[in-house]
Amino acid sequence: MNHQNNKTFDVIVLGSGIAGISLGSELSNYLDVCVLEKEKLTSYHSTGRSIAFYIESYGSEEIRKLTTASKEFFYDLSKNNLNNGILKKTGMLHIANKNQKKKLQCLYNNLIKINKNFTIFNKLKTIELLPCLNEKYIDSSIYDSEASEIDIHPLYNFYLKKLKKNNGKIITDIQTNKFIFNDNKWKIITNSEDFNAKIVVNAAGAWCDLIAENIGTKKINLIPKKRTVFCFKPINTAINNEWPLANDIEENFYFKIDNNTVIASPEDETPTVPHDAQPDDYDIAIGIDRIKNATNFNFNTILNKWAGLRSFVKDNNPVIGFDSHINNFFWFAGQGGYGIQIAPALAKIASNIILNKNNEYFKNQFQINLNSLHIKRFN
Ligand SMILES: Cc1cc2nc3c(=O)[nH]c(=O)nc-3n(C[C@H](O)[C@H](O)[C@H](O)COP(=O)(O)OP(=O)(O)OC[C@H]3O[C@@H](n4cnc5c(N)ncnc54)[C@H](O)[C@@H]3O)c2cc1C
Repeated sequence: MNHQNNKTFDVIVLGSGIAGISLGSELSNYLDVCVLEKEKLTSYHSTGRSIAFYIESYGSEEIRKLTTASKEFFYDLSKNNLNNGILKKTGMLHIANKNQKKKLQCLYNNLIKINKNFTIFNKLKTIELLPCLNEKYIDSSIYDSEASEIDIHPLYNFYLKKLKKNNGKIITDIQTNKFIFNDNKWKIITNSEDFNAKIVVNAAGAWCDLIAENIGTKKINLIPKKRTVFCFKPINTAINNEWPLANDIEENFYFKIDNNTVIASPEDETPTVPHDAQPDDYDIAIGIDRIKNATNFNFNTILNKWAGLRSFVKDNNPVIGFDSHINNFFWFAGQGGYGIQIAPALAKIASNIILNKNNEYFKNQFQINLNSLHIKRFN
């Protein structure tokens, strides 16, 4: 082990998921940045397991505002992406059965407070858009016309390329053992080299509280929740790649069509600890049951399955800002089930805080309440 070879940066970012790469990339325009990743591969955890939807009708009010605030970035990036748009508009139906009608109305009333892009569709119109639905099950839906698939690879590569162009570094397969703050800078002792930095950014996804524990500050009680995804091809129904995403109004299941395959989830949120999440047959069985009940799909084989962690704090909003107890330690945590769709706006807001720039644009244009994202609500 060599602890002689010191490397000095303005900022060390812990974690190379979408959170770490987007913020590291934004900061690299102004500062020397190094992203450290404990796995051999970048994006190995949540980011690589997301179904990467862009949904302005999903999540808390602050999440929905951050999503809308990210839209312009996605469209600008699409113009420069030679192959395709980053956002592929598919639309989305929040579907309800007879017993869920009140919940549908309630969600609709809540959604249109900040965004008018939503329409309630009756049974006929809902089935017209999504003919695989079981007509005995379905009652009505809310249509979100802006919902889109995010092409995550060009998004991630955009941030990675920018980081590298700005001489930023990304180092994988590295274990951070100890963090020492001395003389107004951090020393990070790892299994290979020591690193020095003015600022440490905690963008370690489900592991953010473990980093806090290691560094010696107050935790945010982040709860990683497991979500399962499975894929199948119906044997009785022709499917159409242009169909909208369907999401049960109470978030008991969703499905979308991708490449002539149905990608589905029981929308499980099983609290767990940070780990390499694996799909559980029990969760898949629940998903199959719910989806067979709501649709005409018949299928016997699961073609693919995976699981990933979505990490939340109590109020389901992200947690950003400098820690109140430990100097120069910046939180970038709690992106939950929305870390891809909010990445552009959240990374920009966080980099503005670190660079001491203002966030008036996000406050004025999108009414984003920065206090509801700030770490000071926990420490
Ligand atoms: C099934 C599923 C579907 C989803 N669908 C969507 C969706 O449709 N739209 C959407 O916007 N979001 C979605 N999400 C959520 C989204 O994937 C996450 O919010 C996002 O990926 C979180 O990014 P992250 O960088 O914080 O975490 P991660 O991608 O998990 O990255 C954190 C990284 O930190 C590393 N790390 C941990 N400890 C250390 C350490 N000590 N040193 C160095 N590195 C460390 C980890 O190895 C990991 O690579 C979904 C998630 C799942 C699981």
